[in-house]
Amino acid sequence: MQDIVSLETVYKIYQMGDVQVTALNGISLTIKKGEFVAVMGASGSGKSTLMNILGCLDRPSKGKYYLEGIDVSRFSKNELADIRNKKLGFVFQSFNLLSRTTVLENIELPLIYSKKLSQIAGERINQIMATLGLKEFQKHYPNQLSGGQQQRVAIARAIINNPTLLLADEPTGNLDSVTSTEVMHVLHDLNHNMGITIVLVTHENDIARYARRVVVLRDGKVLSDTPSQSPATPAPQTICERIT
Ligand code: ADP
Ligand code: MG
Repeated sequence: MQDIVSLETVYKIYQMGDVQVTALNGISLTIKKGEFVAVMGASGSGKSTLMNILGCLDRPSKGKYYLEGIDVSRFSKNELADIRNKKLGFVFQSFNLLSRTTVLENIELPLIYSKKLSQIAGERINQIMATLGLKEFQKHYPNQLSGGQQQRVAIARAIINNPTLLLADEPTGNLDSVTSTEVMHVLHDLNHNMGITIVLVTHENDIARYARRVVVLRDGKVLSDTPSQSPATPAPQTICERIT
């Protein structure tokens, strides 16, 4: 199957005055279409730096990053912004929803940026809201929703443009365990039923079990890269199937 991500000996070195911090120290990694990868590792091991590079928010200091075969490692800021819009979806710990904007408008936002808001897009929005159990909340504002509901809005927004790759940095970090499980079921279903490729950062083994592959970082290097141990396989009757 096609490689979605191919990193070749990627370094990220930050210059802090006279001191150099090597956040990524020669990472090589490929991720194929349809994979669900958890990235783990102690604080400071380079997880967020790796996600920033995968997400085209930053460029490697050295080495190559091919996203769907395109070398994006030397892209300009504008080119990176363009590829982010077209190919990437992001979910963050803090949801990052616009507070004065309704659920529907939050989900529509990427389509407005990429000038794709249309009748067809309207149908897709409806379908995704239904899939994620959000239809009844479409006129609500984020502060009228629970944490789990807000994260589902963020996930809907992240997948509305049909991204090549969905990146989630500690998406359950602000949620209680029941809600975390619910959000992980959503991500599991998106990967399993819709074939969305996901890279997820977490420091919790219980969350990593939803992925099928676990990459552990240490000191900016890949310490291990293994199939997930005792993978969690949610019952088929989960949120994504309830409505569609
Ligand atoms: P993690 O997400 O695993 O906690 P990070 O990727 O945030 O790790 O950080 C990896 C290393 O790079 C740490 O030593 C951190 O202090 C350093 N680092 C991260 N971002 C920056 C930055 N913008 N400037 C300088 N050093 C940074
Ligand atoms: Mg981090």
